[in-house]
Amino acid sequence: MAWRSSGASNAELVENLWRNKLITQPLVKAAFLKVDRAHYAPSSPYEDSPQPIGHRATISAPHMHANAVESLLPFLLPKIRSGPQSAEGVASVEGQKGRPRRVLDIGSGSGYLTHVLAELVGEDGVVVGLEHIKELKELGERNMAKSPEGRALLESGRARFRVGDGRKGWSEPKPTAQQPGVGGPAVETDVKDEEGGWDAIHVGAAAEELHEELVRQMRSPGRMFIPVEDENALEQYIWTVDKDEHGVVKKERLYGVRYVPLTDAPSRT
Ligand code: SAH
Repeated sequence: MAWRSSGASNAELVENLWRNKLITQPLVKAAFLKVDRAHYAPSSPYEDSPQPIGHRATISAPHMHANAVESLLPFLLPKIRSGPQSAEGVASVEGQKGRPRRVLDIGSGSGYLTHVLAELVGEDGVVVGLEHIKELKELGERNMAKSPEGRALLESGRARFRVGDGRKGWSEPKPTAQQPGVGGPAVETDVKDEEGGWDAIHVGAAAEELHEELVRQMRSPGRMFIPVEDENALEQYIWTVDKDEHGVVKKERLYGVRYVPLTDAPSRT
């Protein structure tokens, strides 16, 4: 299945993913067409296979990126709430914007998927790419800055890269203002668009378990796409975790995969 989708250009690769039904939703196809993998994969960018990116990491194969985005799509697209009722009881045609989307991409590596996700969350949405290796966090930023669209995403803050242990999830530190003339304490300022939780969490490395902290950080409703090792660490499977609007969690094991492990950060010597 993998090799059949390879192409000679980004457009050809995406067309082949579409023909092979690995991408089935037009909005997913459009997002993949917007992001050139050559900015993210140093070798064979249009081959449907993982490629090394340094630090023992790989950019995942295009068909895995496709599966992940197809699965998460309902939790990525901007929400429109139906508008307030007018005096005549007619709902406004335009509707109102729903709560901005917040998406976490754990193990962002090359930054490719972080970029594709950011193309889907709309003007108000935020995608955070989280890496435990600082050099890879910086690689993601550098790769994204290669295109004008990527630079705009970074400058607006719609796409951000952070360093941290993905097993603990992520919450953006609140901006603080030092009290004038006093060494501290810092005063927390209110940031409206930084409500907590994630509509969608993508995990790009195989976890030892379905980390409860990640499930806790999911919004209601929300979805997580995560590869998890089985008990004897011989096989890995993609799991989706769904949290419904009442907070009820449903976990489903899908299919076998091969990802690099979600681990401790390598120690610096
Ligand atoms: N989605 C990326 C996949 C990169 S490979 C891409 O397609 O480019 C998996 C990544 O997970 C590696 O970059 C690795 O450094 C990172 N990783 C492994 N354990 C991690 C952890 N505990 N926290 C954050 N990132 C981790």
